[in-house]
Amino acid sequence: MALSGLDIYKLLPKTNCKECGFATCLAFAMALAQKKVSLDKCPHVTAQARQALESAAQPPIKLVTIGTAEASFEVGNETVMYRHEQKFHHPTALGILIEDTLSEDELSAAVAAVNGLRFERVGQKVGADLICVRNSSGYRNKFLAAVSTADALSRMAIALYSDDAESMAEAVKLCRERRPLIICGEKSSPDAFIALAKEYDLPIALTCENLDEAADLTARANAQGVSQIALNFKNESMSGRIQEYTYARRAALKKNFRPLGYPIIAFTESADPDLELAEAVSYMAKYAGIVIMKNSAREFVYPFLVARQDIYQDPQKPVQVEPKIYEIGRVTADSPVLVTTNFSITYFTVAGEVESSKVPSYVICVDAEGMSVLTAWAAEKFTAEKITDVLKRCGIEEMVSHRTITLPGYVAVLSGKLEEISGWKVSVGPREASGITGYLRNWKA
Ligand code: SF4
Repeated sequence: MALSGLDIYKLLPKTNCKECGFATCLAFAMALAQKKVSLDKCPHVTAQARQALESAAQPPIKLVTIGTAEASFEVGNETVMYRHEQKFHHPTALGILIEDTLSEDELSAAVAAVNGLRFERVGQKVGADLICVRNSSGYRNKFLAAVSTADALSRMAIALYSDDAESMAEAVKLCRERRPLIICGEKSSPDAFIALAKEYDLPIALTCENLDEAADLTARANAQGVSQIALNFKNESMSGRIQEYTYARRAALKKNFRPLGYPIIAFTESADPDLELAEAVSYMAKYAGIVIMKNSAREFVYPFLVARQDIYQDPQKPVQVEPKIYEIGRVTADSPVLVTTNFSITYFTVAGEVESSKVPSYVICVDAEGMSVLTAWAAEKFTAEKITDVLKRCGIEEMVSHRTITLPGYVAVLSGKLEEISGWKVSVGPREASGITGYLRNWKA
C-alpha cells in the first residue's frame, strides 16, 4: 500500500534544513509521495526510516517479466481491486496449453496455430502471449521433444510445466536464453524448481493448495533469492479458485501482505469450449495475471482478447483514433464525406461498413475526447459549431468538389444549425452503422 505524504513526513527528520531543495520536510514528503523526487535527496534520513520507506515503495503485487525482448510480457504491479478506482496496469497474458502427448505433426500444427493467434481490433494488435508446454506424458524424452518443437517453431514466450525437476532442468537448457516461465507441478517438491529458477534467473510459478501454502512457498523462494514468482492455486472448483485469487489480491493490496503479492496464473479446466471461454474470462476479471487456455480455436480466443481490451482499457481514457480525415478506398473529388467522433470503436465500425460498401469515402473524425456520437453530443463535444470548425480547418473543402456532409442519424437534431453555419448541405445518415452500406450505394451529393 503506497504511503501518503503525511505517513512519509512522520519518518523524516522534521528539521526543515532545506538541503533537499524543498522549503520544509512536509513539502519534500508530499513530493516523494507523488514520486516527483527521490529519497536520496534527503541526506539526513535514518537507515531505519529509509528501510521503511523503500519497503513501502515496492509495488504491492510484484512485477514479473516472462520471456525476452519482443517476445516478453509483464504481469503484476497492480494497485487496485476495481478498475474504476484507477485502472488495471498489465493486461492478463494469454497462454495456450500444448501437451507433449501429441504426435510430432500434431505438435507442429498446434504451435503454428498458436503463432497464428494474431488479430487487429479498434486499431490495436492483440494476440496470444505464451506457449505453455506441459509434460502430460510423464516421459522426459516426449517433454524435451515438445519443448524443442515449440522453441524451433515459435518466437512467442514459453512456459514449461512438469512434475519432474530433472526433466525441467533438461528442458530449461533447451531454451534458457528465452527466459521461460517454469511451472512447478503439483506432485513435485518445489525446492528443486526454486533452485533451478535461482540458477538460471528464471520466473517460476509455484503450485499451492491454499493461501497458507502460497505464503509459505513464496517465503521459501524469497529466502533463496527468487522473487519473480507467479502463484498457481489448485483449488478443485472454479468458484474456490476465484475466491482464492480475490483473497490473495485483497491481502496484498489492502493489508500489504507481501507473501501473497504475486501475479496469479490460472489454468482452465472445462472440456466444453464455451464453458472454457467463460472460465478464462472469469479468471481474467478476478484477478489472474496469466490465463492458460486449452483451446486455440480463433473463435474462442478472439472473444477473450476482446474482453481483455475492455477490462484493461483505462476507464478515464476511452480508446481513441487520431482526429483527422480518413480516406477509405480510392477517393475522388466526388466521394461522400461522413463525419463522426474519434471514439475508436465508432470509427472502426463506420470504416468497416464503408469498406464493405465499396464506395470510396472520406470519414472525418472530430475530436470528441474519445466519446461515442450520442455521448459526445450530450456532453457538447460534438456540436454544429465544432463540426463547422473542423470542416473549415481540416482541408476537406479542397479535397471534394461538392459540399454535402453526412451526419450520423442519432444526431440529426444538429442538421439545421450545421447547414446554417457551415454552408454545407447536410444529409442525415443511418442511425446504426449497419445501414451505411445501403446508404452509401444510394448517396448523391
Ligand atoms: Fe527535511 Fe531532509 Fe529536506 Fe532537510 S533535507 S528539509 S531534513 S527532508
